[in-house]
Amino acid sequence: MKRIIIFSVIAMLAIPIVRSQDSAYARYIIKTLSSDQMYGRGFCHHGDSIAARFLASEMKHLGLLPLQVDYMQHYTLDCYGLEGPISLAINGIELQPYTQFRLIPYSSVKFNKINAEASWSKQLKDGTWIVGVKQLDTYAPIAGPQKANPIFIEVIDTLITKRIRKVKADIPLQFHKDYKTQNVVGYVRGVIDSMIVFTAHYDHCGTMGDGIIFHGAHDNASGVAAVMDLARMAAAQKPYYTMVFMLFSGEESGLLGSHYAAENPLIEYAKVKMLCNIDMFCGGDEGIMVFNAKSQDTKQFYEQLKDLNNKSHAAVEIRPRENRPNSDHYWFSNLCPSIFLLTMGGPYGGYHDPADKCESCGLVHYNSYMQMIKQLAGLE
Ligand SMILES: [Zn+2]
Repeated sequence: MKRIIIFSVIAMLAIPIVRSQDSAYARYIIKTLSSDQMYGRGFCHHGDSIAARFLASEMKHLGLLPLQVDYMQHYTLDCYGLEGPISLAINGIELQPYTQFRLIPYSSVKFNKINAEASWSKQLKDGTWIVGVKQLDTYAPIAGPQKANPIFIEVIDTLITKRIRKVKADIPLQFHKDYKTQNVVGYVRGVIDSMIVFTAHYDHCGTMGDGIIFHGAHDNASGVAAVMDLARMAAAQKPYYTMVFMLFSGEESGLLGSHYAAENPLIEYAKVKMLCNIDMFCGGDEGIMVFNAKSQDTKQFYEQLKDLNNKSHAAVEIRPRENRPNSDHYWFSNLCPSIFLLTMGGPYGGYHDPADKCESCGLVHYNSYMQMIKQLAGLE
């Protein structure tokens, strides 16, 4: 019943949209993807799949062709979900989720860091560690397969001044083996076979129990909006290059969807002239950062962007950076020329923060930045 309600809400959102301006379409995509009905596009309540179905239907609506029957490249991963009421009380003091305590993914690096930095710690009977820290760490979804390892809960250390006598924790963490998820892929046939590929991850951090949704408007509903907007423009013309649009899940758990797409190709990467990944595209008051801008096979694209910007003065800066495994372009950089674009500066609502909402997502520079990317892709 719950799910039927969710789908009808999305269907309603999809109909009465004004699409006269580029940023209006982008705003529609960002608003839909960052709505409560998408559950933060993580593994909780299958938020990733709800978002994928919306994006696949949008691709179909725009007239993109599928590379797989349903526009989806299915794969599985091991992951954690966090659904249901969540609570933590220490010495009888009830703590607020997210602002006063956070669950963090387990890793040995993290464990060493906690040993070094925690002001206090206590291991519960079920193996869970409660650790006091000066600052709460960035929230990220927990990817498997570390089921056997302990779970860490970070707490602001000043909240607990006395010795820890009593801990009451209700953390409904569910481990999902072989969780079904998917990348969403569509394309527009061009005059030639040579391809330009645009990519973005549509997943985000999901929920932290019932009360906290990570909406992920900037990260990365905004990048998906830009890619879908380019798809919309490509579908409305006969582009010179064949244009492929890939939207990944599993990014927040360690670039898992893009890794799967690179290892299980749906297209011939040898025919790709440029792959351009967009991750976090709101704001941009301080310009655009280009990762992998200096490689032999990609520096021409950075130079081209810089030239375009010298003419339009759209961005205060186009800053080149080395290649780094910080987003989905990374796995493709050995297969085809791959760059990653990220806006610098605000306004946006925060990073891995429930406040990263559509209304905080500034699109002041959106049209002028898109104009350059469009030209880079040879679109009219
Ligand atoms: Zn992120």
